Amino acid sequence: MKTDIPSSLNDKNCHRVRVGRSSAGLGLFSTSIFKKGERIVEYVGKRLTNKEVDEIVENRYLLQINDRYTIDGSARTNIARYANHSCNPNAETKTVRGRTYIFARKNICLNEEITWNYGKNYFNDFIKDGGCRCAKCVRKKKEKENGAGGTVLEGV
Ligand SMILES: [Zn+2]
Repeated sequence: MKTDIPSSLNDKNCHRVRVGRSSAGLGLFSTSIFKKGERIVEYVGKRLTNKEVDEIVENRYLLQINDRYTIDGSARTNIARYANHSCNPNAETKTVRGRTYIFARKNICLNEEITWNYGKNYFNDFIKDGGCRCAKCVRKKKEKENGAGGTVLEGV
């Protein structure tokens, strides 16, 4: 069996992503191209049982990986936490042999923002009220506003 590159090398020193400004505040951007299915970065953090999460932890960087466990990704060393939610994402999270990564869902260009779908629960808890600021929703909102503007001709 092939040994994986230690995460300290692969994920801390040799990131192929950077943090930058996005439509939703800070975001995660590619500094390299990624092919569909390629691993982008590990989502690192303390592993908690879902029960522990329900009882004590409250932050925006909880990533539930299955029925039993959730990763608390709130540490600043977890660069993956900067990846924003999108309703039309180019990446997704997957757990492979007990470790969770963000993978490319499609081919990703240089300097493209990395996004994944945070899921329904997160959306309802944190995004819905303020309105989603992902590229898809921002565009939709603009189209709607323009559309409405175009019809206000009555009563002239
Ligand atoms: Zn959206």
